[in-house]
Amino acid sequence: MPLLVTGSIGIDTVVSPYGRAEGVLGGSAVYFSLAASQYVPVRLVGVVGEDFPPEFRKVLEGRNIDLRGLEVRKGSKTFRWSGRFEGAMNQAETLELDLNVLAERGPKVPEVFADSKMVFLANTHPTLQRDLLKQLRSPELVVCDTMDLWITTERESLVETLRVVHGVIVNDGEARQLTGKMNLFDAGEAILALGPRFVMIKKGEHGGLLVSRDGVAALPGFPTTRVKDPTGAGDTFAGGILGYIASVGRTDFETLRQALVRGTVAASFVIEDFSVRRVEGLTRAELDRRVAEFVKMLRFG
Ligand code: AMP
Repeated sequence: MPLLVTGSIGIDTVVSPYGRAEGVLGGSAVYFSLAASQYVPVRLVGVVGEDFPPEFRKVLEGRNIDLRGLEVRKGSKTFRWSGRFEGAMNQAETLELDLNVLAERGPKVPEVFADSKMVFLANTHPTLQRDLLKQLRSPELVVCDTMDLWITTERESLVETLRVVHGVIVNDGEARQLTGKMNLFDAGEAILALGPRFVMIKKGEHGGLLVSRDGVAALPGFPTTRVKDPTGAGDTFAGGILGYIASVGRTDFETLRQALVRGTVAASFVIEDFSVRRVEGLTRAELDRRVAEFVKMLRFG
């Protein structure tokens, strides 16, 4: 089943203790699409400016990603973000943010995508997330992400979005900030009380947590020392999760648990190099091998 995603498509500059990458491909919808397209066809909906480099488009063209919803807006500039990672590298510090085209009107869903049943609303203004949803005829599974910026500045609109989605994928800091609960299981329960049926919480190097109305599950991160640039880890995590769910076509508790494994493993690849370098040529066989290795590692008794 195809999976529709909307979010940022951007040009990033990232500094980590392992170096610096200037003017590279980034954006929440880009990382998500690269991961999810390992499992199912992805329909990408977003806007870039005239300055979006043709070689960035080529990275997306080489995958199972339908770009008919990618608008190149005349007279506009592409979204740009610059960030730095330090220490344990669990959280990026934003150095510069130029919303550019993201501050203009939202993307239009092409008619050929209006029948999409599975949707991921990657990080963007919560009102734009709902605007996108209104353009779909009968979505059956809608999952969203958000970030500290919207939790602080657009809380009411965000709560409105949470009321209409089935699932939420956020990181630990965002879950705590959104709910005021420091215990992550409490935070997960508090998010469920706002409307969604499940929440997946990413805990940086410490893995992920699933809190659903049918139970909870917890996973460590995939143990790795090869961490160069964690940019996109959250979106890649979400891409692995939803790609897997869409490929199975169910959202029962066991499928969600299995999806958590796929998301955690997908994220473990993207952090191994800057930007999308490690994932643009990643094969499904490599992904499946690491999933098997991880599952074996998790087996006790
Ligand atoms: P993450 O998976 O959370 O590391 O997301 C990384 C991507 O989010 C980067 O490639 C950025 O281009 C993008 N990003 C950063 N800030 C924002 C924002 N305010 N809105 C949308 N996307 C953003």
